[in-house]
Amino acid sequence: MKPYLKEHEWSIIEEGFNPENHEISESVFSLGNGHMGQRANFEETYTGSSLQGSYMAGVYYPDKTRVGWWKNGYPENFAKVLNSINWIGLQIVIDGEDLDLNKAVVSDFVRELNMKEGNLTRSFEAELREGKRIRVQATRFVSIVDKEIGAIKYDITPLNFDGTLQVTSYLDGDVRNQDANYDEKFWDPIDSSLSKDRASLSVKTKKLNFQFCSTIETQIFKADKQLDVEGIGIEEIKYAGLTYKAPLVKNEKTTIYKYAANVTNRDHDENQLEIISGKELDKAVAKGFKQLKKEQASAWKEKWLNSDIVIEGDVAAQQGIRFNIYQLNQTYSGEDARLNIGPKGFTGEKYGGSTYWDTEAYCLPFYLATAEERISRNLLIYRYNHLEKAKENARKLGFEKGALYPMVTMNGEESHNEWEITFEEIHRNGAIAYGIYNYVNYTGDKAYLGEYGVEVLVEISRFWEERVNYVPQKDVYMMLGVTGPNEYENNVHNNWYTNRIASWTLEYTLYVLDYLKDSDNKLYQQWIDKLKLNEKEMKKWLDIIDKMYYPEDKKLGVILQQDNFLDKEILPVADLDSKHLPLNQNWSWDRILRSCFIKQADVLQGLYFLNHEFDIETKKRNFDFYEPMTVHESSLSPCVHAILACELGYKDKAYDMYLRTARLDLDNYNNDTEDGCHTTSMAGTWMSVVQGFGGMKITNDQFVLNPFIPSQWTSFSFKVLFRGARLMIRVDQEEVTVTNESALSLDVVIHGEKILLKGNKAITVTH
Ligand code: BGC
Repeated sequence: MKPYLKEHEWSIIEEGFNPENHEISESVFSLGNGHMGQRANFEETYTGSSLQGSYMAGVYYPDKTRVGWWKNGYPENFAKVLNSINWIGLQIVIDGEDLDLNKAVVSDFVRELNMKEGNLTRSFEAELREGKRIRVQATRFVSIVDKEIGAIKYDITPLNFDGTLQVTSYLDGDVRNQDANYDEKFWDPIDSSLSKDRASLSVKTKKLNFQFCSTIETQIFKADKQLDVEGIGIEEIKYAGLTYKAPLVKNEKTTIYKYAANVTNRDHDENQLEIISGKELDKAVAKGFKQLKKEQASAWKEKWLNSDIVIEGDVAAQQGIRFNIYQLNQTYSGEDARLNIGPKGFTGEKYGGSTYWDTEAYCLPFYLATAEERISRNLLIYRYNHLEKAKENARKLGFEKGALYPMVTMNGEESHNEWEITFEEIHRNGAIAYGIYNYVNYTGDKAYLGEYGVEVLVEISRFWEERVNYVPQKDVYMMLGVTGPNEYENNVHNNWYTNRIASWTLEYTLYVLDYLKDSDNKLYQQWIDKLKLNEKEMKKWLDIIDKMYYPEDKKLGVILQQDNFLDKEILPVADLDSKHLPLNQNWSWDRILRSCFIKQADVLQGLYFLNHEFDIETKKRNFDFYEPMTVHESSLSPCVHAILACELGYKDKAYDMYLRTARLDLDNYNNDTEDGCHTTSMAGTWMSVVQGFGGMKITNDQFVLNPFIPSQWTSFSFKVLFRGARLMIRVDQEEVTVTNESALSLDVVIHGEKILLKGNKAITVTH
């Protein structure tokens, strides 16, 4: 697809209406505030192809799994994020004709996602059947200040006629999910109510009793004066709306304001939902659209203060990174430990809005560095709260002890939809342990270990203990029948990454236990008692650490992704005719599995996570071996390669990989943005800049930078929060400057040199 979005530093702009791109744009121009999300569906009727998407965070449906042959251990449900009440709908009828951009002649169409201020605008001219032309300008946002509020301003100006406008402002709960396994609708009606200018609709899910109430108020203005028009109510099953009539006068603007308060029984007493949404709506209406929009802009300003990345000299790269940061901040605000980050955020149905290993492996570093500590702590607590379910999950699969976290989950239960791949990706358990390490390493919050971390680590370690098998004739421990991060290999033996992350978990767990023993013996004893942890068990872990088998090829000096990897025909992707790519759209699964081609970082994922364990030569040999075989058909892949390429000084490769991750959705690289944006990989893009180009690491509690700048850029700068300080790092072709935007003094290590950075001071080092 030809890129069709205009480059701009702070906005995503689409000029001209091309229905073929509409569903891609619906994803890209999505809005969210951590509590709810909304694809960029049109407010007015649209009969062209569209994926309707209004999502409420944490509201999901356990859809009964659909498979050919049932196997023991298969999850009963595939949980999915629910398309919920459509609260944005405004049916616009002009002189009896329904405005529908699929039927009208559309010109001068522009939509803009204003990332600086957090709103979406759209303007166009439409020619109706009898040559009647109108101009429309629509603005909407979901508030990050008042989380349950969404607001719309919709202006209509007739350009060559006088006539009548009929607006139906509605709530439609009779919606469906495109990915429903049995084509069912998931919502049942509860109630609806109407008054002069308000409509309210309550619905509940067919399973799990999630209740959602939306209340709207609609106002019609001409020249800043509200018209006193009475709405005529329409109430149907799962539908409530009010129809207003107003005269249209040539060149005179009519403005429709629509405010919505969207509340669920996740946050409120279910018997009070309508009352609460009414009260929230009262507050929003009292503020008015202008004030709500102003507050939204200043709240986004605050967000950008902590998380912006500025790239000078490359507008495409600048727009790309801001888009990623924007989407991440729209998706997860971290205030609710029951929520997490779905791979598509609030931008589509695919991947069901569920939690994957993506959170710990890719997203956590972003929230660690750009938000208060409690936000990333909540991501960890989310898993802590699912520990009992992870234990149940292990039992279901026949393990006697330990916890196996699900690969895909909403509530702690496994709910994936792809048995052959996902089931065996037990490596995710390692990522959850690694997330704890990463959090403590970054924040220094060791108290977390004694409060929650140790319990999760011990239970994950117990799982690994049982999952490995001892091979007496070789005196080694192996891990058979797994799928590593590279999903283009299934059911392999001794995936190096899985073996290593398992053994690493055991090492880290023992380290944490030692730490607790030394620092707070009483607490240590309490855990030993609670977890019934004994010497024998810990000895066994040491034995596994000692005797874990790691496939390698001594001659090539490389780690082997799995046993017998070298029996494959080893070819670089560059030797493939481009017509084969992407492989997952062109090759049979059998052919993919037989080939050497790698979907996403696997051995290299391990070298990235456990970077400090490997010397530069080892990293180089493995990068040189695996990178040419990697097709990056998971959006999570290029960022890891970009970071390693930076470390190895492969500047062009690093830049290339960066661009691929930064503009993945804006340029629809993987040809699937219409399903939703790749939200979790956006955190990987952030990592490519901060950890890759910036070379930021926390080593032994010290803030370390090793920056290099791509020749295409004049400069780049990023902000991070680190242990109470806010730092601004600016790198240009000559030097790096670190500005301490806080009063705290701290040591920073730049290009290997340790420097004391005083509060509110800056230091500059030449490259
Ligand atoms: C990747 C997984 C990832 C999932 C969700 C898949 O394509 O291979 O590693 O967890 O997408 O992002």
